[in-house]
Amino acid sequence: MKVLVTGGAGYIGGHMVLALRDAGHDSVVLDNLSTGFRWSVPEDVPLVVGDVGDYELVLQTLRAHSIDAIVHFAAKLIVPESLRDPLGYHLNNTVKSRSLLAAAVAAGVETFVFSSTAAVYGNASDRPIAEDAPLAPLSPYGSSKQLTEVMLREVAAAHGMRFVVLRYFNVAGADPAMRHGQCTANATHLIKVAVQTALGMRPSMEVFGTDYPTPDGTCIRDYIHVSDLISAHMRALDHLGAGGESLVANCGYGHGYSVSEVIDTVRKVSGRPLEARIALRRDGDPVTIVADSTRLRSSLDWQPRYDDLATIVEHTLRWETMLRERNLKL
Ligand code: UDP
Repeated sequence: MKVLVTGGAGYIGGHMVLALRDAGHDSVVLDNLSTGFRWSVPEDVPLVVGDVGDYELVLQTLRAHSIDAIVHFAAKLIVPESLRDPLGYHLNNTVKSRSLLAAAVAAGVETFVFSSTAAVYGNASDRPIAEDAPLAPLSPYGSSKQLTEVMLREVAAAHGMRFVVLRYFNVAGADPAMRHGQCTANATHLIKVAVQTALGMRPSMEVFGTDYPTPDGTCIRDYIHVSDLISAHMRALDHLGAGGESLVANCGYGHGYSVSEVIDTVRKVSGRPLEARIALRRDGDPVTIVADSTRLRSSLDWQPRYDDLATIVEHTLRWETMLRERNLKL
């Protein structure tokens, strides 16, 4: 199978490229390097530096490499940033996905795996949330992904494409072999921020809201190890490659941790003090988001390997420590 990985120089896409390579599949990376890194693409994997919204470039790439499947990671993904810049998010995530889909149709690509998000659900009342829950995103990030899901479904119906939409819950951790991890400067995601604070790379961190209707007052999320998320993508490609039908599946473990529990786990695993200041609620934050992952387990036969918060934190710590040492040497 020959796979185009958009955003393959980034955090999650980079892990996908490694997994495809480990499994003996050919891949081509399309990345504009806005947040990704050239070094993260192995030398034997072709890297096309460009934009998913560049129709001609994408069409030419799909044809030149005889691509069978697209795995579409490239996107902006920061909820608060999307609230400040909704049009930027719709351009980058929705409009450019439209262009990518148009090129995929023109090139006759029949299978597509799309990175969606739990943010499409908003403040869902079901806990855990199943895929048929009503969609009510609280941010332009969530709605940009929802709109792309709609487009993909309609394009697939019209043009005989089959797809898997994977709705990610909170992705964290790093490749257990430390070949890849999150490198984004000024990262905002909780586990990364807490680990960097414990390592002294930030003086302190903030807890956004302690007055939510949860047992300790802080928001609850379902944190999934990036390697388990990637194994879901590999299962999705296998499913589509075997002629499987289109489907939408949540990617999470089915249980959540509060912000305070995450911070305590980082303290415990790192053995370091970590100053966490109480701050106001952050706009666009749902109270609790936990996946019902039944479909992922049953339809795609997904079996997670790292369903343990301490392991996710430990891998993040090892990665951050390695990054810090590498930067110090440079
Ligand atoms: N959070 C926090 N302090 C931080 C970063 C995040 O309290 O420095 C909280 C955030 O308000 C949310 C949870 O941690 O309740 C997860 O946020 P994150 O940005 O990691 O992911 P999101 O759920 O927004 O995709």
